[in-house]
Amino acid sequence: MTKKGSTKKASSPSAAKGIWVYLEQEQGEFEGVSLELLAKARELADELSTTLTGVLLGYPVKQLADEAIARGADEVLVAEHPDLQIYSTDPYTKIVTAAAREYNPDIFLLGATPYGRDLAGRLAVRLQTGLTADCTGLKIDPEKKLLVGDVVGFGGGIVAEILCPDARPQMATVRPGIFAAAEPQKRQGKIRDLPVEITEEDKRVKLLERVREAGLDITKAQYLVCAGRGIRGDLGLIEELAKLIGAEIGATRPVCDAGWLERDRQVGQTGVVTKPRLAIVCGISGAIHFTVGIEDAEAIVAINNDPEAGIFESADYCIVDDLFAVLPPLIESIKAARVAQG
Ligand SMILES: Cc1cc2nc3c(=O)[nH]c(=O)nc-3n(C[C@H](O)[C@H](O)[C@H](O)COP(=O)(O)OP(=O)(O)OC[C@H]3O[C@@H](n4cnc5c(N)ncnc54)[C@H](O)[C@@H]3O)c2cc1C
Repeated sequence: MTKKGSTKKASSPSAAKGIWVYLEQEQGEFEGVSLELLAKARELADELSTTLTGVLLGYPVKQLADEAIARGADEVLVAEHPDLQIYSTDPYTKIVTAAAREYNPDIFLLGATPYGRDLAGRLAVRLQTGLTADCTGLKIDPEKKLLVGDVVGFGGGIVAEILCPDARPQMATVRPGIFAAAEPQKRQGKIRDLPVEITEEDKRVKLLERVREAGLDITKAQYLVCAGRGIRGDLGLIEELAKLIGAEIGATRPVCDAGWLERDRQVGQTGVVTKPRLAIVCGISGAIHFTVGIEDAEAIVAINNDPEAGIFESADYCIVDDLFAVLPPLIESIKAARVAQG
């Protein structure tokens, strides 16, 4: 038996087995990133010829286990209890730590959501293992057969590939919107209950009130018009273009820092990752911190008056000109085309 807070290791590398995905849910619905991770982890598990296990906590949640299997899990470990209805650090950490110690997963993936980040950090300390936080890519090193987490890091233009060779599980949190979720399929899998023992000591945090704001989510946008510092706070044309083509508005960090647009619209490393069919990016230099949030767009049109701007390396269509000169005729020609189409 291991005391709460102890840092006994989960396992040695050779004994560890299987890939785990933490299945975050909210009121009986999976967080999108959990389904995205199931799809990616399925690929990794097949590559390693190993099993994929989902870890599901909450109340009531058992009904979600079948969906997790349909979306790629071979097995789902379920902890269902009224005290787990709303995420709380201590009980969740206790249950998942105990399960990880018992079953020794080789890899453990969580979504880089507020709760996923909170849980992952605690688990990594309890299990005395490494945690690659905020990954924008995952793969298996073909020779070492280890998980490789891509992290845009060190405040500069590099993508670090991070491995955890000596401790297990190899843990990573992954940004929402990086991978595509798989469609449910007819699959068989096992559902196993995890023991739930929650003491008064585990309930140190009392939830007094829960306030949810109707948050803005631009990650699902099909069309995106992004504003950079080059717009100089004048959003009129950006808003008009976005409205005309049914697009959401995204922004770079300086635009949000300046309060010209809400923080929810920030695209990039410390914002959101988007995958629109079309992104029109205006007055944006193209720092890697921004482009990681837009690089999976099917088509990128960049407008910048500096022919050397880095954004042109990521763009499919490059317009070297003043955005205040380009946008009005663009808007007018779209309007004219609409009129011509009736
Ligand atoms: C750890 C870390 C995390 C970060 N995370 C993020 C993030 O998530 N998202 C993010 O966006 N940034 C992030 N940044 C900041 C990032 O490095 C850049 O500073 C930022 O993306 C630059 O924003 P910008 O392109 O709007 O501004 P600038 O770099 O100032 O570029 C403005 C561009 O507008 C062009 N321009 C000016 N006037 C016009 C005009 N009239 N017509 C056309 N073009 C014009 C200029 O030529 C210039 O290229 C992060 C930085 C760090 C260190």
